[in-house]
Amino acid sequence: MEVKTSLLDDMIGVGDMVLLEPLNEDSFINNLKKRFDHNEVYTYIGSVVISINPYRPLPIYTPEKVEEYRNRNFYELSPHIFALSDEAYRSLRDQDKDQCILITGESGAGKTEASKLVMSYVAAVCGKGAEVNQVKEQLLQSNPVLEAFGNAKTVRNDNSSRFGKYMDIEFDFKGDPLGGVISNYLLEKSRVVKQPRGERNFHIFYQILSGASEDFLCKCDTCAFFRYSSLMDHSTRVLFSGKCSIFQIIVVIVGFMDHETQSVFEVVAAVLKLGNIEFKPESRVNGLDESKIKDKNGKMRLATGRKLVSSPAYYARDALAKNLYSRLFSWLVTRINESIKGIEWTHIEYFNNAIICDLIENNQTGILAMLDEECLRPGTVTDDTFLEKLNQVCATHQHFESRMSKCSRFLNDTTLPHSCFRIQHYAGKVMYQVEGFVDKNNDLLYRDLSQAMWKASHSLIKALFPEGNPAKINLKRPPTAGSQFKASVATLMKNLQTKNPNYIRCIKPNDKKAAHIFNDALVCHQIRYLGLLENVRVRRAGYAFRQAYEPCLERYKMLCKQTWPHWRGPARTGVEVLFNELEIPEEEFSFGRSKIFIRNPRTLFKLEDLRKQR
Ligand code: ATP
Ligand code: MG
Repeated sequence: MEVKTSLLDDMIGVGDMVLLEPLNEDSFINNLKKRFDHNEVYTYIGSVVISINPYRPLPIYTPEKVEEYRNRNFYELSPHIFALSDEAYRSLRDQDKDQCILITGESGAGKTEASKLVMSYVAAVCGKGAEVNQVKEQLLQSNPVLEAFGNAKTVRNDNSSRFGKYMDIEFDFKGDPLGGVISNYLLEKSRVVKQPRGERNFHIFYQILSGASEDFLCKCDTCAFFRYSSLMDHSTRVLFSGKCSIFQIIVVIVGFMDHETQSVFEVVAAVLKLGNIEFKPESRVNGLDESKIKDKNGKMRLATGRKLVSSPAYYARDALAKNLYSRLFSWLVTRINESIKGIEWTHIEYFNNAIICDLIENNQTGILAMLDEECLRPGTVTDDTFLEKLNQVCATHQHFESRMSKCSRFLNDTTLPHSCFRIQHYAGKVMYQVEGFVDKNNDLLYRDLSQAMWKASHSLIKALFPEGNPAKINLKRPPTAGSQFKASVATLMKNLQTKNPNYIRCIKPNDKKAAHIFNDALVCHQIRYLGLLENVRVRRAGYAFRQAYEPCLERYKMLCKQTWPHWRGPARTGVEVLFNELEIPEEEFSFGRSKIFIRNPRTLFKLEDLRKQR
């Protein structure tokens, strides 16, 4: 354990919150702030790493730093994400314990960057050789491809991940990577057709428009204006021009054939062009007889499962565009997986339940199940009827609030708009606006459109809509967005439970995306909902005993020649000298600001026994 002097602690704060004295919200924030001001963006809570986004490049991720942290004890050097990466990698290699690294934090807090740093560290320290290097390269290079298709500029983050990602990497007994598999969760496909004010569509649309060759653009008949990426202004062109190595990355690293790459970009261009389709009264959709697809009000009337539903043509157009893009995204993930997988993947059983999961996931009375049920009644159902139903079923649930709730405690709550409900999550209360819930969950694509896509001469488009094959007609309702998400999260949870967890808690210091600014209130909010103070308390409980330096030295100084009968320096140094001479193992204690922390009562009994023997 690195022992810092109190003076240094005063200046740059303590590296491990377990050693913070006194411990409260203010001291916690102050400590983070001091460290942040001294470019120390990492702080521990025991083995948990808190990471504060510096919003500027720091010179702390160099190959020299990798060497510095390699094969070192976790607490030996100042806190760093490389120390956690090293610890996780070595436990995996030397003790054969599967590891998972859980990175949490709000949008823009630095989760994606943290995951890349962990991966680059592990890649730098694990095996060598052409084959291993190729696996490493492919694992690392999957990032830019997925970011191009799955990230977008939002008001909170210029490179916001709009999908959840879980990457499993398998190592052999020597610690060399064998391959990996990526799972993607719930791409925010509504972004394809509509972006909130001041935000953009997925990067790839702009990258293609500004980076593809003239030849490609001409062939795809792209025009200057696209409804789906209306923010394609001059500045975007400048931002992305010259950065379009994405074409090469896909070709070279993921091992795509030229024609596959071409196909992928053609599908992206097709999505853009779909957005520009306008419907006139006489228009025909994809060769379908219009009378068959429009009802007397001019709305599209198409078969979904066994039921007939009506919907405006524009809704159908957007649904197709969203489906086309999200299927392309899933196809890309599958394709990348094919190139990085050396071995079969197995999933192991487990499940964990809690009251809040039940409110959302219960098969009968859970919010997702109720939403699914409402979606089975197309035509009569609206977002409001869904909310009404929620109120009937969940009104008395202690974590559920709504204005329409019969429960009197919320009737006076004017801060909750009519079309909203609120859930008290562990992280805090979250308000949900029900508008669009039913549509988004339904995520229906009319069978006629799937069939039209399947008939396309473009082989990738055809492959993306297998259910359009009339020979494989399936009258079963496709799974709703909610049920797909529920199933994928359950699988992820099962998987994570089989591994030893390592935690990285990312914190965003300000909402201006700016360097050097530490907003206390914003940080305080994140500390609360990440439960960090509780985390310190739990870790501290791991230390059975703590005592201020002076009384500790006073009681045991007789056990050491150097401290007996008088110690002239600071009490803390005296205790250091004492423990050193008594050869108390390093992992048994930690030096706090004003107190010594002893992990195991055994150590204390040993000191007491020695005292008695004198
Ligand atoms: P989202 O949930 O929106 O995907 P996120 O938590 O993944 O957000 P990142 O994309 O990792 O956030 O980080 C946002 C930006 O902050 C990065 O694009 C980068 O500019 C900056 N950033 C994050 N971590 C670091 C770091 N360690 N060093 C320098 N800059 C960083
Ligand atoms: Mg991200």
